[in-house]
Amino acid sequence: MKKKLIQNTTEHFEKSFQNKPQHIFLSPGRINIIGEHVDYNDGFVLPAAINKYVCIAISPNTNSDCTIIAKDLNEVFEFNLNDNLVPNPTMWINYILGVLQQLKEQKQFSNGFNAVFSSTIPIGSGLSSSAAVECGFAFALNKMFNLGFSKEEIALIGQKSEHTFVGVKCGIMDQFASVFGKKNKVIKLDCNTLEYEYHKADFKKYSLLLLDSNVKHTHLTSGYNDRRNEVEQGLAIIKQHFPKVKTFRNCTEEMVNSLQNELGETIFKRCHFVVKEIQRVQDAVNALSNSDFNKLGDLMTQTHHGLSQEYEVSCDELDFLVNAVANETSVLGARMMGGGFGGCSINLVEKGSENALIEKISEEYRSKFGIELKSYKVKISKGTSEYKN
Ligand code: ADP
Ligand code: MG
Repeated sequence: MKKKLIQNTTEHFEKSFQNKPQHIFLSPGRINIIGEHVDYNDGFVLPAAINKYVCIAISPNTNSDCTIIAKDLNEVFEFNLNDNLVPNPTMWINYILGVLQQLKEQKQFSNGFNAVFSSTIPIGSGLSSSAAVECGFAFALNKMFNLGFSKEEIALIGQKSEHTFVGVKCGIMDQFASVFGKKNKVIKLDCNTLEYEYHKADFKKYSLLLLDSNVKHTHLTSGYNDRRNEVEQGLAIIKQHFPKVKTFRNCTEEMVNSLQNELGETIFKRCHFVVKEIQRVQDAVNALSNSDFNKLGDLMTQTHHGLSQEYEVSCDELDFLVNAVANETSVLGARMMGGGFGGCSINLVEKGSENALIEKISEEYRSKFGIELKSYKVKISKGTSEYKN
């Protein structure tokens, strides 16, 4: 699939620009084992890059002209880097314009280029196709024009691009996972300091299966930004009562519980989820290192219930997918993954049981919602890189 993607993207470049691309870059999507909606709450997360990619075929220009082709959407966007870059009604280009604006601000960048990009990461399914696009372009331009940005700076440029040009106040997890991914390793990332450790992703008898609800997360932007405001308000109240608390990380469940009335029902639920989720990530890392997969699965399922009932970012279809596997002996745990309101569930399942499970759940899902389920058996792969033949 990767070979085919590279071949198709390259051919499209050659057809469009009558030349071979000078460089090919691959930028992966990501999964997250646990630690949802805590990256912007100074928590820890446990993501990994996967074997689904945005492929960018690209060549420099000798002037500041840029032509970017989104092959999958059959769209072309042309502009000059000396133009004032502002958010555009054509949504997909904003992920790239935001990156270019950062490069211009930080390095007085003005080198034009021609590029074609195409992807095997399903769009809007919570596998972070957006971070893969942002980080892929930032990485490619950094390499091609020797801009000297570190990998961490590339991830931060991707995040800032999404904040400024797309309007989603995302945390750093998606971009970090896409850039720092390593084959067969999950990343335990401290979202406060950006310190990270790789942990062996050896699930032994088990594998990770994604079930894609095929519901696109159209409410994500407003939902996401609302949640950020709610937890910010909550933290401000907690700090008034417990001055030693700087972030959710040093806030305990008891503290949140003691302020239940003051926080009010909604904000209490949001804060309670965050504090519990930060703890669950630590417990999950321990479970993974001890190969205690029952425990890991339980934690994933607890996360789902928290996201659904307390953080309220799930939807009927995702709740159904998680509840439908609850009594399957081959499934140790399941949860919605990503920002929510649609996208995939991630399931820890016994190797070899996947096909029967997919068949069964697909049928139930079709008859309940009239929607075709998609599924992906993902492998944990390396982060954004240049592809050399
Ligand atoms: P995801 O969970 O996949 O990151 P987002 O809504 O955050 O979902 O980002 C999806 C958006 O990213 C798309 O609507 C599009 O604007 C852009 N994008 C992602 N992949 C592609 C692609 N292959 N071609 C063009 N645009 C893409
Ligand atoms: Mg995204």
